[in-house]
Amino acid sequence: MPVANYEIYCRMLGRAREGHFAYPAINVTSLTTANAVLKGLAESKSDGIIQISTGGGAFASGSAVKDMALGAISIAEHVHRAAERYPIYVALHTDHCQADKLDKFVIPLVEETEKRRAAGKPNLFNSHMFDGSALPLKENLDISVKLLDRFRRNELILEIEAGVVGGEEDGVEGKASGKLYTTPEDTLEVAGRLNIVNGGRYLLAATFGNVHGVYKPGHVKLRPEVLRECQEAVVKEHGEAARFFLVFHGGSGSSIGEIHEAIDYGVVKMNIDTDMQYSFTRPIADHMLKNYDAVLRVDGEVGNKKMYDPRFYLALAETAMAERVKLAVTELRGVGTTMFKT
Ligand SMILES: [Zn+2]
Repeated sequence: MPVANYEIYCRMLGRAREGHFAYPAINVTSLTTANAVLKGLAESKSDGIIQISTGGGAFASGSAVKDMALGAISIAEHVHRAAERYPIYVALHTDHCQADKLDKFVIPLVEETEKRRAAGKPNLFNSHMFDGSALPLKENLDISVKLLDRFRRNELILEIEAGVVGGEEDGVEGKASGKLYTTPEDTLEVAGRLNIVNGGRYLLAATFGNVHGVYKPGHVKLRPEVLRECQEAVVKEHGEAARFFLVFHGGSGSSIGEIHEAIDYGVVKMNIDTDMQYSFTRPIADHMLKNYDAVLRVDGEVGNKKMYDPRFYLALAETAMAERVKLAVTELRGVGTTMFKT
């Protein structure tokens, strides 16, 4: 199936919140990792989200070019073509983009979508994240409101963040530990400012102690009830229509109980990067260590061409990552939920 359009994406998100499941939003940096996601989603009969970070885009554009928007466009164009061969819907999203990178990443990608729309073609991406969490909330929302107005006109969904996700992702470290938990007051401010952008749709990454990267259990004190408190506050003040569609960042190492509780409070998208990176690299490490004298030309020997052909071990990695995607779909209660009808 082609990439989801705006109408289908909106319905996907609505069904998830109503049905108490969430979509895995998986970071990809190459054709192989994008294919792994499509395979895993299709085998789970689940729709899902493929996302690209600024660093992932720069990587995908090639080390001589390092153009984050160009790499993101290249992967997105591949997904538009490849997704047609899979019986599920996938949405394309871009991950954390701080204010100083908007002009190099999100804005050129929105312009690309605007060009495509003017030519009668589908949007390139379905949604983009603006991460203004390092700014004072007012400045964060000033930028968000402007973006949401432009997004609304192009049937794009905006993801914003209030509060700070701890840890490190893509070389950016979340500090300000006091903001690791979003407050109901913050989220009322978000709704007050963004809900007046008529026809605008947004997702909110509210933080409840989440940390990017990987930590052993017990390191992170997750408080999913923060999400419930935020939802109750916004519904009380602005009515049921204002209930948030929430995003869970930094979930590596969370317990299933915590994940399910967060979903029950309105999380519809869970970002998964670190665990996917590990699942991809694990079989490659195994291959290299077990076949040391075949992948290397040891002591004047010639090695084994089959064993060092990148296709051989990347295929192992693709399969392992697809399996990890299937596990994510299961944990997020999404198995068999695709909207695609054959
Ligand atoms: Zn994140």
